[in-house]
Amino acid sequence: MIATEEIIKTPFYKAIGKECDVFEHSFQNKLPLLIKGPTGTGKSRFVAYMASQLDQKMITISCHEETSSTDLIGRFIIKGAETIWLDGPLTTAVKNGYILYLDEVAEARPDVVVAIHSLTDHRRELFIDKLNETVKAHEKFMLVASFNPGYQRGFKELKPSTRQRFIALSFNFPDAKLEEEILIKETGVDADIAKRLVNIGNKVRNLTELGLTETVSTRLLVDAAKLICSGLANRLSVKVAVMEPLSDEPQVLTALYDLTDLMM
Ligand code: ADP
Repeated sequence: MIATEEIIKTPFYKAIGKECDVFEHSFQNKLPLLIKGPTGTGKSRFVAYMASQLDQKMITISCHEETSSTDLIGRFIIKGAETIWLDGPLTTAVKNGYILYLDEVAEARPDVVVAIHSLTDHRRELFIDKLNETVKAHEKFMLVASFNPGYQRGFKELKPSTRQRFIALSFNFPDAKLEEEILIKETGVDADIAKRLVNIGNKVRNLTELGLTETVSTRLLVDAAKLICSGLANRLSVKVAVMEPLSDEPQVLTALYDLTDLMM
């Protein structure tokens, strides 16, 4: 399954800046929103939180290299002797006025970007080529996409002509006090451990010489805090939740393990 329709209960989200206002105004003005930032910085959580605040249903699509416009728009399926049309998640969201969240949009096949073009400008309509039909978006429909700008190799880019169709927000790692608060609220970990975890996170984030493709995200720190809260030893929790996911290179891991022993 690439999509889930969620009935939102308000999830916990700690605002970092003015992002909630930006989201709300984008929604009111029927403007699509692009959220840029590394993985694990709260982008998905933020969208879920805003959907709940705005009393909107939300469909999430985690895009990958096989995600095509057919997956989003819909397809004919054979049912008994009949061929019937099945709306895809994008069409469902457009017709019913949901928030459609395209997570990691740059990973999807190029036809996905083509399919959403007419939804990202004044037309706000979706062309269903297989039905030769154009659907006007419900007034509450909103398109939100996330994108990892990938300062390092291995990430796909988003064309400037596509980017310019969106209001854009940058997400990054929160400052230390906020990140500690997130860990405590999210997991119930005590303040001293939260502080240490955030210190380790920031230390690794600054060690650019390790050449990590992705660095310590808030998500990894949350995972470590969860393990600690459930009784796993502090250092082991950090090693398996934070360090191991970052690298497979023995030398890098040794450095990260040493750091853990020093700081935890
Ligand atoms: P992304 O979509 O950017 O990859 P997520 O939204 O999945 O990241 O965030 C990963 C985890 O980090 C969340 O499940 C949550 O526990 C935590 N998190 C990150 N930022 C925040 C925040 N500002 N408020 C609350 N939780 C956060």
